[in-house]
Amino acid sequence: MGIKIDGKALAKDIEQRLVHEIDVEIDHAGRPPGLAVIRVGDDPASGVYVRNKEKACSRIGVKSFVLHLDKKTTIDQLISEIDLLNQNQNVDGILIQLPLPAGLNEDLVLKAISPSKDADGLHPLNLGKLLKGEIGPRSCTPAGIMALLSSNEITIEGKRAVVVGRSILVGKPMAIMLQEANATVSVAHSRTKNLIELTSQAEILVVAAGKPNLITDKHVRNNAVVIDVGIHRVKNHLMENQSGTKLCGDVDFEKVESKVSAITPVPGGVGPMTVSMLLVNTVSLWQEHCGLSFTLSDLLP
Ligand code: NAD
Repeated sequence: MGIKIDGKALAKDIEQRLVHEIDVEIDHAGRPPGLAVIRVGDDPASGVYVRNKEKACSRIGVKSFVLHLDKKTTIDQLISEIDLLNQNQNVDGILIQLPLPAGLNEDLVLKAISPSKDADGLHPLNLGKLLKGEIGPRSCTPAGIMALLSSNEITIEGKRAVVVGRSILVGKPMAIMLQEANATVSVAHSRTKNLIELTSQAEILVVAAGKPNLITDKHVRNNAVVIDVGIHRVKNHLMENQSGTKLCGDVDFEKVESKVSAITPVPGGVGPMTVSMLLVNTVSLWQEHCGLSFTLSDLLP
């Protein structure tokens, strides 16, 4: 039976470290770190994510600025709001809660954020820095996965790693980070032929396909490390809650668990780390903006 990699516990440790960093430097900085979160429209899941981010900020002493805009907001109006935040001296990081309502071009919006306030690490300049191995804010989910591997003392160097999914949010930056850590990396996607043949070679398998229970025991080799990024609410006859639904990932946990050396559960694996890394990016940007020592580079792969 593989060990369950505990994202909640690591996220808590990282938060404690950030509390300490802020505590030590706040007098010198003259102000707390600030994170602005922009939500456009009324997607209920986005509402939950934004509230979770606000709560995380308040737990560690980051001031949050939440902007909830109408779903009819135009691209020009949205970009003007971003410009105001780019100029606001109390804001270190800006995050746009995705997805945006149809009609708002995500690329244009993400590019409007100043690269030096890019809390999600998704600005083209910061993705370029990742590609070149230069320090900068990092895409939160893959950075969180690197922290999980490292804190569980999972060796990456020389390992055969497979990433399922090639999104700009998860799959692509994940593959670059694993390669930078000296794994030999393959990337699978929706047009990959014979997924099982590829994934069953993986010593480290990261799955970010957005397909519930896509990966079963047949896809996984013995003693692999499996990281499940997917998160889905599905019907459950055993009624885990009143709505008769439960959360699951892209990996069929029950089938895979006994075969692997380690695995992230859903919930409680990758999810909490994504929020932690958002805070890491924000506090690092605060250190940079306030001329403080840069102390978090070990968490920015
Ligand atoms: P996406 O839809 O943008 O990308 C999915 C990728 O998977 C695509 O590259 C696609 O080619 C590939 N894919 C789809 N079906 C496939 C198949 N059958 N075989 C191989 N590859 C396949 O999704 P995303 O934004 O990368 O997110 C992926 C999943 O991770 C979603 O479930 C999302 O909700 C979840 N997610 C979780 C967190 C977290 O914090 N836990 C963060 C981001 C995303």
